[in-house]
Amino acid sequence: MGIETALVALSTFLGQRLSRSKPDLQQHGGSETHFPMTPPDAVAYPRSTEEVAEIVKICAAHDCPVIGYGAGTSLEGQTLPVNGGVTVDFRDMAAVLHLGAEDMDVTVQPGITREALNEELRATGLMFPVDPGANASIGGMASTRASGTTAVRYGTMRDNVLGLEVVLADGRVIQTGTRARKSSAGYDLTGLFVGAEGTLGLITALTLRLHGQPEAVSAAVCAFDDMATAVEAVQTTIQMGVPMARIEFLDAASVAAVNAHSNTSLPLYPHLLVEFHGSEAGVKEQAEVFGDVVTDTGGKGFAWADKPEDRSALWTMRHHAYWAILQSRPDCTAIVTDICVPISRLAEAVEDTRADIAASPITGPILGHVGDGNFHAILLFDPAKEDEVRAAKDLSHRLVERALALGGTATGEHGIGLGKKAYMEAEHGDAWDVMGDIKQALDPKNLMNPGKLLRDG
Ligand SMILES: Cc1cc2nc3c(=O)[nH]c(=O)nc-3n(C[C@H](O)[C@H](O)[C@H](O)COP(=O)(O)OP(=O)(O)OC[C@H]3O[C@@H](n4cnc5c(N)ncnc54)[C@H](O)[C@@H]3O)c2cc1C
Repeated sequence: MGIETALVALSTFLGQRLSRSKPDLQQHGGSETHFPMTPPDAVAYPRSTEEVAEIVKICAAHDCPVIGYGAGTSLEGQTLPVNGGVTVDFRDMAAVLHLGAEDMDVTVQPGITREALNEELRATGLMFPVDPGANASIGGMASTRASGTTAVRYGTMRDNVLGLEVVLADGRVIQTGTRARKSSAGYDLTGLFVGAEGTLGLITALTLRLHGQPEAVSAAVCAFDDMATAVEAVQTTIQMGVPMARIEFLDAASVAAVNAHSNTSLPLYPHLLVEFHGSEAGVKEQAEVFGDVVTDTGGKGFAWADKPEDRSALWTMRHHAYWAILQSRPDCTAIVTDICVPISRLAEAVEDTRADIAASPITGPILGHVGDGNFHAILLFDPAKEDEVRAAKDLSHRLVERALALGGTATGEHGIGLGKKAYMEAEHGDAWDVMGDIKQALDPKNLMNPGKLLRDG
């Protein structure tokens, strides 16, 4: 009854901006991966921090769960309202609040997408580089501590969020951080909320670090005979300190999928997709050093993409790789794995994963942000076939165990949500209980995105 009572009060407060329409509930109850449809009881569309605080207070008074929602592109079921409740969609809170061009920072509302933000910044010579491929919201990206193709050069959301405004579970509004580039003032609450997946509060504004648009950009693809040599080239490049802007890996199966999807004709070998940023001279030098590494490791030469439209086509192809791989087996869904290991262990992590998948009854193209030691096997399985479901789950499980044994993590960038909770104990031990203590202190009724990231109960 608590949820229904909350909905009556919310409906009085928000009017039409509290939706219970079937399409809205379906949209907010779905996900990009294999989790079953789990619709919320209603979707709220606030327009201000004050409205978010009032929504949270009403929900708290009636024990109604509250789930933040940005663009819904997260991959571990993070937005699914497993205990019912109200999804708070930040679609209508997507403004740039303050641009500090001289200080290279910007304050935005959480619903702005990374593409919309970069469009706003285009004429300033500045950019926000964190790029998860999907056109995610900045609030969702902060909440999953997202990264992507450019993290190897510019860092992840952890490195690029300077401060936050957050509505806590009791409706209080707090500010964390400042516009200063560094601070020693107390606990790092900004770091606490970045990656919290909406379990500790709702982010209503973010101050972000910006970067200068590079004077020169150059991109290229190169092929390798096998995965091992491609990964060796990555390891050597990173260990030499070449400041790669992007260094992405696609295995031959991923290449076949993107060729079919994006109408390209890359040879069916493992590939690296790279990009260099800097001055004209800097880019030339980086490209030469990388070229030497590729030659030494037996790479098959470069195809350059110097024109902006060619680079755009290259990265669009890369960003669509997930959907391309899904389309390669239309009857299938996917477990998207996301391990990250120290760079010195990358080669064995990739090779052991390849052998494991090859010995299984399913396919699992491998691709990833290898410059960070982060890669994904997209484990495709037919949900109607019990042996394929089991094989995908077992492979995913072994992949995480492998990462942890190599000193890595179950998730480099996608987060925990529902899908990776089973590994929190193994990765964090007693520190997972400390996360539970923090949750208990900030959200004692367990109303903020319940069921995610933390221990059940
Ligand atoms: C094709 C594809 C490729 C991808 N590639 C990458 C990649 O390379 N790197 C990467 O990091 N991710 C990647 N992702 C995953 C996804 O894009 C990221 O997880 C992204 O950060 C999610 O942002 P979103 O706006 O869609 O958030 P949502 O999915 O809407 O929400 C994600 C989480 O944040 C919470 N949340 C949302 N807004 C708020 C708020 N204002 N306050 C508090 N909590 C909030 C939600 O409750 C949920 O827990 C990819 C996804 C797809 C579909």
